[in-house]
Amino acid sequence: MNSILPSSNALTTRTLEGKVALVTGSARGIGKITAETLAHHGAQVCVVSRNEQACVTVAEEIERSGGKAAPFSCDVSDSASVERAIETVLQKFGAVHILVNNAGITRDTLLVRMKDDDWNAVIQTNLSGAFYCSRSVAKAMMKQREGRIINLASIVGIIGNAGQANYAASKAGIIGLTKSMAKELASRGIAVNAVAPGFIETEMTDKLPEKVKAELLGQIPAGAFGTPQDVANVILFLASPLARYITGQVLNVDGGMVM
Ligand code: NDP
Repeated sequence: MNSILPSSNALTTRTLEGKVALVTGSARGIGKITAETLAHHGAQVCVVSRNEQACVTVAEEIERSGGKAAPFSCDVSDSASVERAIETVLQKFGAVHILVNNAGITRDTLLVRMKDDDWNAVIQTNLSGAFYCSRSVAKAMMKQREGRIINLASIVGIIGNAGQANYAASKAGIIGLTKSMAKELASRGIAVNAVAPGFIETEMTDKLPEKVKAELLGQIPAGAFGTPQDVANVILFLASPLARYITGQVLNVDGGMVM
C-alpha cells in the first residue's frame, strides 16, 4: 500500500501538517475532542454537524488555541446535504486527507416496541451517513492516491445489546462497510479502519440510568469508563504515519470490556 504520509516514528504537533481532516459530529462529545486533537497535531479540521452555531463555536475554540478549523453544517443522513458540504470543503481546502465518520445517534427501545422511525433514523444516520460521506470523499482521495477513513463502530456492533437492535445493526454494518472499503481502496493508497469504543462518558451515555451505568462498570476490567480523549488518541494514531500499514481493522477502545 502506498504511504499517505511520510514515515515517522513520533507524533508531534506537526505530524498532520498540510493534511485536511473532516470529522462528522464534531460539535460535541468524541467528535469534538477528535477535531481538537487532530488540529493540535497540525491538521486543518472541518467541523461538521447539523447545528451550524455549534460547529462555529468549536471551530472558533480550535482557532483560539492556535489550530486551524472551519465549520460546515451538514446532515449526514441526507446524501444531498453530504454532497453539498463535501463540495464546499473541497472548494475551500482543495482536498480531504482524513475522514472521521463519527456522527451517530441512539434510539434505544426493545425490539417489539421499536417503531419503523426508530430503526430508520439510526440506520440512516449511523450507517448510511458513513456511506454517503465515504463515497463522496473517496472520489477525491482516489485522485490524490492517499487518504485515511476512520469509522466509529461500537463494541455493541460486535456483541449486540438488548434494547439497541437498531444501533447494534448500524454499528455491525459499519464494520462490514469498513472492511469492504478497505479492500476496495487499499490499492489507491487509502486505508480504512474502525474504532469500536466501549462505554465513553459523553452526552450520548449521560442519558443512561445510574443503575445501568453501575452494571456496565462491573463489566469493565479496567474498572473505569473511557473518556472522549481515549478514543480521539486512537483515531489520531490511525490518521498518522504510524498506522501506515494498518487497514480493514477494528480497534476496540473499551478498557477490556470485549476480548
Ligand atoms: P454525542 O451524542 O455526544 O455526539 C454526536 C454528534 O453527532 C453530535 O455532534 C451531533 O451533532 C452529531 N450528529 C448526530 N446526528 C447527525 C447528523 N444526522 N448529521 C450530522 N451530525 C450529526 O455522541 P458521542 O460523542 O458519544 O458518540 C460519537 C460516536 O461514537 C457515535 O458514532 C457513537 O455511536 C460512537 N460511540 C459512542 C460511545 C459512547 O460510549 N459514547 C460508545 C461506542 C460508540 P448535531 O446533533 O448538532 O447534529
